[in-house]
Amino acid sequence: MNLIDQITSTYKEKFGHAPAHIVRAPGRVNLLGEHVDYNDGFVLPAAIDRATYIAFSPTDAPHSTLVAADFDQQASFSAETIATKTQPDSSALPEWALYPAGVMWALKEEGISTSSINAVFASDVPRGSGLSSSASVEMAFAIAWQTLGGWTLPAMQRALLGQKAENKYVGVNCGIMDQFASACGVENKLLLLDCRSLEWKTVPLPDHVAIVIADTTVRRKLTSGEYNKRRDACEEAVRLLKNDLPKIKSLRDVSVADFNRLANTLPDEVEKRARHVVEEIGRSNQAEALLEAGDIQSFGRLMNECHASLRDLYEVSCPELNVMVNIAQPLKGCYGARLTGAGFGGCTVNLVAKNDVEAFAKALAAGYEAETGLRPEIYISHASNGAELLG
Ligand code: ADP
Ligand code: MG
Repeated sequence: MNLIDQITSTYKEKFGHAPAHIVRAPGRVNLLGEHVDYNDGFVLPAAIDRATYIAFSPTDAPHSTLVAADFDQQASFSAETIATKTQPDSSALPEWALYPAGVMWALKEEGISTSSINAVFASDVPRGSGLSSSASVEMAFAIAWQTLGGWTLPAMQRALLGQKAENKYVGVNCGIMDQFASACGVENKLLLLDCRSLEWKTVPLPDHVAIVIADTTVRRKLTSGEYNKRRDACEEAVRLLKNDLPKIKSLRDVSVADFNRLANTLPDEVEKRARHVVEEIGRSNQAEALLEAGDIQSFGRLMNECHASLRDLYEVSCPELNVMVNIAQPLKGCYGARLTGAGFGGCTVNLVAKNDVEAFAKALAAGYEAETGLRPEIYISHASNGAELLG
């Protein structure tokens, strides 16, 4: 049974009638521009064909009741008590419910009305592996409340509200890329986002190329501490580089040439972190022209360089990610392979010729299991549309 049938039947069992609507919001994968969103850089994600689905209807009840089918759990909250993060019986909202509740909270903060809903949701975006299951949940609920609210927000506005929900309500310090890609995805296109101006455009990916995502199945704890340290190092680099480049606001404003000239004024570790960011922004600047020209070979090389830089300069890789990338890169049909997302575990992203994709996935899975003893998940994916009402 597919996910839509599953949540529809759970909804009927639970609420005694068919749901009025179904929405879907995808996860995302980032092809290039890693750890540059918080440095005002450019990112190049795509929405993927794995998504969160919600079956829902409006209700006259004072509170919304949500069923997380993947956890077989239920939670309720109302707009009146949303700020307290509690349920009508005063118990705390479970962690998963903070994401949808946060969206209601962020909408309310904007003065946008949200009606009570009954909802059952489920997702085939793997959780915590860097494919943004959390943003897909948020963007799905943003569409659900929009559907019932009689208002329409531009997709980027919905993304910003989702980011606010995650930053301020859930308490996770994420950039805008995840919600942006889930909200704004376009079938068969990559999305090029300027994280400073929030301007974006689509960039083509040739028909003969598949996006292959390989999950190491490794999840590292304590990564938020490392993430914050990387952000601090970038801020420190800007502070020090301002001595010679007083006009810069972020590492986005530092050219590779200026950076090379001034690199020896920075402490070693700060230099390595900042070099990754400056060079990665340089790579993402080249990406658009290469992809417009269909030069997937050269683009793939940039992905490989990105991985080496994340491994050696930004130091956010881990042995399992390196094994996955080292096996993938020489395989037939592989244009580029790198870790994707924040790092320290999670997934790699690979661009692979469609003709070779089955053999690639098989060889990658077998090689990884032989070397690590872990069985990876391999998803052959393609770029999909962003969050939408299905009916
Ligand atoms: P990711 O990289 O997948 O976004 P996060 O840690 O940011 O990882 O978000 C994962 C959290 O999002 C889960 O712990 C859960 O609270 C929520 N979530 C994601 N998918 C679902 C789902 N299918 N059902 C309920 N909650 C979900
Ligand atoms: Mg997330």
